[in-house]
Amino acid sequence: MERFTSIASHDLQEPMRTIGNMVHLIGKKYSENFDDQGKKMLDYVSTATKRMNILIKGLLDFSRIGNKRVIQKVDCNELVETIVLDFEAALKASNGKVKIDNLPVVEGNPVELRMLFQNLISNGLKFRKSDSSPVLEVLAIESETHVEFCVKDNGIGIDSKDYEKIFYIFQRLHHTEQYEGTGLGLAYCRKIVELHGGKIWIDSINGVGSSFYFTLSKSKRS
Ligand code: ADP
Repeated sequence: MERFTSIASHDLQEPMRTIGNMVHLIGKKYSENFDDQGKKMLDYVSTATKRMNILIKGLLDFSRIGNKRVIQKVDCNELVETIVLDFEAALKASNGKVKIDNLPVVEGNPVELRMLFQNLISNGLKFRKSDSSPVLEVLAIESETHVEFCVKDNGIGIDSKDYEKIFYIFQRLHHTEQYEGTGLGLAYCRKIVELHGGKIWIDSINGVGSSFYFTLSKSKRS
């Protein structure tokens, strides 16, 4: 599946580049001869081409996760604090908050773990209820060998029938006009957690909020 994704997305890039270039040229050279409906249609093609490019790039990124398996100690407190700083503008705009528990040091790939926390936090802020500010919590429960993390939000929630579906590529529960996205974020998360030998799952109440859980190995080196 991963080889297929990698090959397919490589091969798709070439014709998409041609379509993108041609649409751009048609717009530049001939759009004066188009009536309003024609211009609108050209606009749709251009928007769809851009989205297709984003999706193909997302697929390639997905297939590349795990290529460089550098495993080291990762301080999750430090990691999550720096990620939250990147969301400062979004938090200010929505009057949101991210509470960070005392998080442990784990064994893992720092780039992938950043991507994992970043996607979950980003989703928690994005899928918020329109009438309240987002409040997120990043928690950790430690056992002797493992840590169970939880990224909890007070957002729109997910129906239990969709718990499995959302971790597959391109599976989304909303239109892009409503909430923008590619439907790849949680597929990245699942791949990253599984590469680390852990599990990821969700518990949610529709209209109340969601908790995304995942497990990682604790650092054995001190
Ligand atoms: P994207 O965010 O690009 O749509 P994801 O793979 O990250 O893709 O998520 C898949 C779908 O799962 C989302 O489109 C949304 O419907 C649902 N989802 C993900 N995170 C949340 C969340 N925190 N609250 C509610 N729904 C969510």
